[in-house]
Amino acid sequence: MSVNPSTQLPADPEHDPRASYAFEPEYVAALTNRIIATTGTGVTSYAPATGKPLAVIPQSSADDVKEAFARARRAQQAWARTSLDHRAELLLRLHDLVLDRQDEIIDLICWESGKARKHAFDEPLHIALTARYYARTAHDHLDTERRLGVIPGLTRAEVNRVPKGVVGIISPWNYPFTMALCDGIPALLAGNAVVTKPDAQTMLSALLGAQLLEEAGFPKDLWNVVAGPGRELGTPIIERSDYICFTGSTATGKLIAKQCADRLIGCSLELGGKNPILILRDADLDKAAEGAVRACFSNAGQLCVSTERMFVADQVYDRFKEKFVAATKAMKLSAGLEWGSDMGSLISQDQLDTVTAHVEDAVAKGATVLAGGKARPDLGPYYFEPTILEGVTPEMTCFGNETFGPVISLYRFHDEADAIARANDGEYGLNASIYSRDVKRARIVARQVKCGTVNINEAFGATFASIDAPMGGMRESGMGRRQGSEGIHRYTETQAVASQALLRFAPQFGLNDQQYARVMTTSLRLMKKMGRA
Ligand code: NAD
Repeated sequence: MSVNPSTQLPADPEHDPRASYAFEPEYVAALTNRIIATTGTGVTSYAPATGKPLAVIPQSSADDVKEAFARARRAQQAWARTSLDHRAELLLRLHDLVLDRQDEIIDLICWESGKARKHAFDEPLHIALTARYYARTAHDHLDTERRLGVIPGLTRAEVNRVPKGVVGIISPWNYPFTMALCDGIPALLAGNAVVTKPDAQTMLSALLGAQLLEEAGFPKDLWNVVAGPGRELGTPIIERSDYICFTGSTATGKLIAKQCADRLIGCSLELGGKNPILILRDADLDKAAEGAVRACFSNAGQLCVSTERMFVADQVYDRFKEKFVAATKAMKLSAGLEWGSDMGSLISQDQLDTVTAHVEDAVAKGATVLAGGKARPDLGPYYFEPTILEGVTPEMTCFGNETFGPVISLYRFHDEADAIARANDGEYGLNASIYSRDVKRARIVARQVKCGTVNINEAFGATFASIDAPMGGMRESGMGRRQGSEGIHRYTETQAVASQALLRFAPQFGLNDQQYARVMTTSLRLMKKMGRA
């Protein structure tokens, strides 16, 4: 049974720190009741834009995790017997619900994360795209597939896609609605149940996702939510999961990979990045400057595919810099739920400390601030200006370490090969962007960039929103892929079934072993001649 401390929220938030400044207690309770939590303890979450309390989040124990898996296992058995068409139909309902309820979803995301409304909109958009894509391609990914049998006409081989069972999903705070749901959608479609632990700072957005899944018709116990610190609940989740999907930092990803290895279960890890953008000499500079603002400052740079290193061709460096700095300085920073803000707040004091430290370190070691460079406590407790640095060198922290904030370093390049080598420098390999009028040439450059996604003449949306294309990181940016067939096949085991007619794999028709070996050898040679695989 779940406890729900938030039902006791008093009506007057001025007199009790547990009260919500944003929501009716009943609204919060309807969401937090979904958490499987029996500890009787709660942790207050705060609105980053104001620093005021939002909700009390009931906390789960290791026993609650056990209970979540017990429910998930029961629900999964029945779910795996439902038809693929039924599951796909529910996803199309989810698509409609998310679009119909987008105002509510976006309000909640804005309250919990402090991001600008236009960046919050990306979340229901991404979930609608993901739900529609997987609903419409369900049979392509999951139907039983014919494969080549060894003896033409006599061996019939097929591959079934069997659900893994219960998938554990551990998600971060930066895109709290989409990161909680987008990886779970293909898991459900493939016949799995889910136990999820969203980040503590943004539980409500994730819980609204759970509510919408149920409203779309997914059985309640198919999607189970637990709440609490990752370092406490991570291990109990991994111990019981048949597969782990993790999005978060590289450091945590490595810990999770080790635990999954111990259990020999698979995992996909979507991790950090130090993403480059290349502005080639033939780029449309107006388009590039506009795109660069989105590449660097969407969600205040707290985006895994956000750009933090910009390499600009010498021939256009000064003209591009002028346009990019002007566009950045023209950005409107504001808190609140209204449209019209170009950038919102960072999520927390921790994030503000990291961003401030990276900028102060760079400036102290000789970098120049071309735009921004300071916190903005006048706007809210965790605001930091969109910041452009020039003259960043390898001894500065922000040179190779992920800032995960609105800070971009500008570098000049003379030679394209050198720019590609610098873009490939370091241990990350998540996302890159290339601006060039010659798309064919840009595609050739893209192939040399060691990143899981490369966007040409766009910041990150071209790949991220193309759900049929796999998304994820090379090197220390991750393992496995979300989206596309890769994003759903990770949640299935392949099962090969082959039936044999007439001939058997042993001597027959009076042949001895040696004669059988000779006949088989002749057949192999013949099949090669016939061009058979
Ligand atoms: P984080 O790794 O600290 O936390 C992410 C999640 O992991 C949270 O739910 C947290 O509670 C949980 N967690 C923490 N320690 C754990 C442990 N020991 N065992 C199990 N779970 C644990 O990351 P963060 O700082 O919250 O998120 C920001 C990072 O995530 C950035 O580095 C960013 O690049 C990355 N990120 C990547 C993607 C992507 O798709 N590649 C998307 C978003 C964020």
